[in-house]
Amino acid sequence: CKVIENTLGNKPNVVVLGSGWGAISLLQNIDARKYNVTMVSPRNYFLFTPLLPSTPVGTVDEKSIIEPVVNFALKKKGNISYYEAKATSINTERKTVTIQAVSTVAQLAQPDNHLGLNQNDEAEIKYDYLVSAVGAEPNTFGIPGVQEHGNFLKEIPHSLEIRKRFLSNIEKANLLPKGDPERKRLLTIVVVGGGPTGVETAGELQDYIDQDLKRFMPSVAEEVQIHLVEALPVVLNMFERKLTSYAQDVLQKTSIKVHLRTAVSKVEKDHLIAKTKAEDGAVTEQTIPYGTLIWATGNKPLSIVTDLFKKIPQQNESRRGLAVNSNMLVKGTNDIFAIGDNAFSGLPPTAQVAHQQAEYLAKVFAKMAKNPNFHAELAKRTEKVDLFFEEQGIKPFDYIHYGALAYLGAEKAIANITYGKRSFYTGGGVLTFYVWRVLYAMMILSARSRYKVIADWFKLAIFKRDCFKEL
Ligand code: FAD
Ligand code: NAD
Repeated sequence: CKVIENTLGNKPNVVVLGSGWGAISLLQNIDARKYNVTMVSPRNYFLFTPLLPSTPVGTVDEKSIIEPVVNFALKKKGNISYYEAKATSINTERKTVTIQAVSTVAQLAQPDNHLGLNQNDEAEIKYDYLVSAVGAEPNTFGIPGVQEHGNFLKEIPHSLEIRKRFLSNIEKANLLPKGDPERKRLLTIVVVGGGPTGVETAGELQDYIDQDLKRFMPSVAEEVQIHLVEALPVVLNMFERKLTSYAQDVLQKTSIKVHLRTAVSKVEKDHLIAKTKAEDGAVTEQTIPYGTLIWATGNKPLSIVTDLFKKIPQQNESRRGLAVNSNMLVKGTNDIFAIGDNAFSGLPPTAQVAHQQAEYLAKVFAKMAKNPNFHAELAKRTEKVDLFFEEQGIKPFDYIHYGALAYLGAEKAIANITYGKRSFYTGGGVLTFYVWRVLYAMMILSARSRYKVIADWFKLAIFKRDCFKEL
């Protein structure tokens, strides 16, 4: 297959896999005049995941929370190429990445350089340094039926699928008489996983029912029942207990039924089996018929990453992600970095972590570029690579935790805003909801997207949600 090597300006080639929090934050910060930067991702836009739970019901439009990769690239000076393609294999011995299903190639510094690739051709891109930021994928824990019948919420197409299913169930239920068990089933939504994705999604769906559906289908709206199923004794486990019990109260008051200590063990087309373990250890089993099932139980590594576990001896024991050292270098290599959800460093898989790791890595690349012998010396170094970075004055990554926020529905949110060990704000309620909105608007990575999200919020206050089955 064709091997692509970027030789422009005789600079090291940095190939970045992904277009999410890690990859795009790195693109924004790396000095592309010192490196040839090649981005590879099948998704040609960045997705602002914190507002994804707002999109299935149209609180915020899907297009408001995405930004094309090329918009970020065009803001940079230097040599940047973007391949809209999926990386299928990292070939450590050849220092290449195999890519497949290329649909667009944007070589911003060499727009006329035709690569002669057809859409389904496989090609290999040569790297001097690889940055893996491919994220992770929803974990079903092998529970039967989840993949076939559940809806995930990780990407934009998931949001569209949830909306379509939820709204077509409402339409079907509306044609059935009250008291029909099929009507009840269609109007039952089960959200599995009481982490922030599950809680925020349940809250947004309930908002749509209470604020919009109630106005034009009141009898259907009052029959919709959302169940939130969580295996642990609390929802939003990462927050302090005072906030989690406040969150549970808000959810119950908005009529979401919270099932704690309850794990879903099997999913069928129209019902699921859940087992509840009481404090005394007694287990009870229940069957919950559902119309819509949203599966939000966390993520697992992608196959491109688990394949790499096998190729690098020091990664053979890795399970949750590529084990990285304090410079974000994949242990057992001297040329592969990993950031974000596909890296395992003991930090939680959050946007906050991915963003900071990317900013840090851009600084590492800047420091590396200052020493003309750095690249040649690092390439020779197969052992004690950490020491080499230290000798070059490169400081380890230091994560600063700014806290956590979660939307609960009914214009209430919880927040725990910190800096290091100091807590500046801990609270829940309507005021926190506005704090949540301001902070999320500030976190958005592009001005266009920020403008669109704020406009969606203003529009919502006047015209309610745009929630159409086919759009
Ligand atoms: P991602 O952002 O997932 O990006 C991965 C990228 O890799 C994507 O562009 C994908 O298309 C690409 N890719 C996948 N496979 C390949 C391949 N084979 N080849 C090339 N490219 C590939 N975190 C917070 O801190 N705060 C929040 O409020 C928050 N809210 C969230 C809400 C939801 C609904 C979800 C799902 C997550 C949320 N998170 C939040 C977590 C956060 O989104 C992730 O931790 C973050 O996206 C990780 O960044 P990443 O770059 O590692 O992965
Ligand atoms: P998560 O891993 O945080 O939560 C998944 C939940 O599902 C866990 O509480 C787990 O106990 C439960 N679970 C697992 N299997 C189950 C089963 N069979 N039955 C019932 N419950 C089961 O996943 P998430 O909410 O998707 O979050 C993923 C990452 O993204 C986390 O790091 C999170 O912090 C981050 N995130 C943050 C925000 C925010 O800050 N507002 C929002 C969304 C996601």
